[in-house]
Amino acid sequence: MTDDDTHEDGSDHGDVFTDAIRKLDRAAEFGGVEEEVTERLRHPKAVLQVSVPVRMDDGSLRTFEAYRVRHDDTRGPAKGGIRYHPDVSISEVKALALWMTLKCAVVGIPYGGGKGGVIVNPKELSRMELERLSRGLVTALGDFIGPDTDIPAPDVYTNEMVMGWMMDEYSKARRQRTPAVITGKPLALGGSLGRDQATGRGAYYAITQYAERHDWDPTEKTVAVQGFGNAGQHVARLLQEDGYTVVAVSDSKGGIQSDDGFDVPSLMQQKNESRQLKAVYCDGSVCETVDATEISNDQLLELEVDVLIPAALEGVITADNAEDIRASLVVEVANGPTTSRADEILRDRELDVLPDILANAGGVTVSYFEWVQNRTGLPWNLEQVNNGLEEVMARETNNVLDRADELDCDLRTAAYALALERLSEAVEATGTRS
Ligand code: GLU
Repeated sequence: MTDDDTHEDGSDHGDVFTDAIRKLDRAAEFGGVEEEVTERLRHPKAVLQVSVPVRMDDGSLRTFEAYRVRHDDTRGPAKGGIRYHPDVSISEVKALALWMTLKCAVVGIPYGGGKGGVIVNPKELSRMELERLSRGLVTALGDFIGPDTDIPAPDVYTNEMVMGWMMDEYSKARRQRTPAVITGKPLALGGSLGRDQATGRGAYYAITQYAERHDWDPTEKTVAVQGFGNAGQHVARLLQEDGYTVVAVSDSKGGIQSDDGFDVPSLMQQKNESRQLKAVYCDGSVCETVDATEISNDQLLELEVDVLIPAALEGVITADNAEDIRASLVVEVANGPTTSRADEILRDRELDVLPDILANAGGVTVSYFEWVQNRTGLPWNLEQVNNGLEEVMARETNNVLDRADELDCDLRTAAYALALERLSEAVEATGTRS
């Protein structure tokens, strides 16, 4: 983000891709990355915009705008989720694709980065409309996706059911069953055990490594989770199993707080029960489930806790509230929850941030395991999946923590340095192909 993107009120709610480039440029400059490598990463390799006509249940026709961005595929096929959300924009999808490139590099899996998004409020669609949209999207994307080119997965408001439809549609069009074109599928269609909880579990392994380095006693630590969706629920559950006290959680409708802590499994059960009553998406809220002090999402972010976990959407920690964050560790389970200006403030305040490209990389890591299982035809058991995930997350979290010590820098800069080093090696190894 340049100064021109600063809004009149001095806030930083500007263009998300420009802001993502600002973070990239800063880290690249700090790490002494070749300008030509940074220049390549500033521009997505390919951007596809499509419109998807969908026959609605009442007989009318609605058209949805969608994007798929292939950011970079130097280290392997592009990889990244597809988001269904009314606020999807091309700028957001480009930023999310860039972060996927960095994420796959930081955990050392052989993928580049991609992302997709559809401008839609899926909560307003029936199950049949959602299926027609998902299948129509795959038709519109055509050869832009493929098991060796660009492999989609779930993201915000998409799930295994949606991935199953997409895989089926792709396979039908090619007259060849192609499970490896998409990850995050239902088990019955070639999905992997452990994929549904992989993002939360990966974040938990990263936090565990950080906690060991800092000699934390989990029973003395409190946690607040902003965003009680799939990733937020599992990380909260696993931390609580280790003795952490989860004192606040929130979702899009608001939050709840209790100094004594919540029983996370029962919160999950109540929230997910309300989901089964609704057609496809959970319209219930944590606020409706238990008797506790209600707080807003903004209040949750400013609570005095040890660990703050933003696990929803990007841009929630901004220049406006970064001074008021009172946690000692922020764990970015969401993609891009901290703007570049807020990042500078947190850095100046020496507040530790386990950055998104590391903290939420568990999802894509198990997606990689799923793709490997599909390609070899050999399913893994849950122990293999979770052990593999732990190995990757522990190794790379320690690499990032070591790199931060060596460079005397914050954890985001260290994670970017590691990712950019791996990307530079790949770019150099491809020679002069550009
Ligand atoms: N949407 C997830 C992410 O942002 C997972 C991507 C994947 O599994 O490809 O990391």
